[in-house]
Amino acid sequence: MDLYKEWNEKINLVSRKDIDELYLHHVLHSLAIAKYLRFNPGAKVLDLGTGGGFPAIPLAIFFPETQFFPVDSIAKKIKVVHDISDRLGLKNIEATVSRAENLKIKVDFVVTRAVASLKDLDTWSMKHISERSAHAIPNGIIALKGPVFREEARLLPKKDYVESYAISKWFSESYFEEKYVVYVQGR
Ligand code: SAH
Repeated sequence: MDLYKEWNEKINLVSRKDIDELYLHHVLHSLAIAKYLRFNPGAKVLDLGTGGGFPAIPLAIFFPETQFFPVDSIAKKIKVVHDISDRLGLKNIEATVSRAENLKIKVDFVVTRAVASLKDLDTWSMKHISERSAHAIPNGIIALKGPVFREEARLLPKKDYVESYAISKWFSESYFEEKYVVYVQGR
């Protein structure tokens, strides 16, 4: 909380009104992904459009043996991610300034929140998802989404397998009403 408050005074990472709800709106929301899937030690996870480090930083704390690669096209946001992960002593974060589609990286999963439509996420992510799966579900994209994911899913390639889970089934706070974990299987 202190680190985010400090940075939020310098650059607008989360809205002023939201900063007091950091643990609920940003940290717990990010951890909904951990409810959906337990990442293996040694797994690689790309956070597409990480902003100030969501969901990558909470997940990196939760899964200390999984390697997280937060990416954002805006350098000052990645500067914050570097600083916060250094000061938290996180060894499993490697943050990069880049547009996601320009990266040369292979990962097990792409996680993301509040970045783009499922179609754009699909276009930017699929080439980064390795074919060899070692988790309970095949490698793919895990996105935190609002109810709009239903319309967005219709624009995905027909053969894509999509699954959703209502976060309100895990977390009772009203903030999580109409919030979903959406999985798109890699191909
Ligand atoms: N995921 C964070 C930030 C969301 S704001 C959170 O939930 O709090 C969206 C972020 O995505 C912005 O920082 C923007 O710079 C980044 N972004 C959008 N398209 C991108 C792309 N193609 N590659 C990398 N970053 C992207």
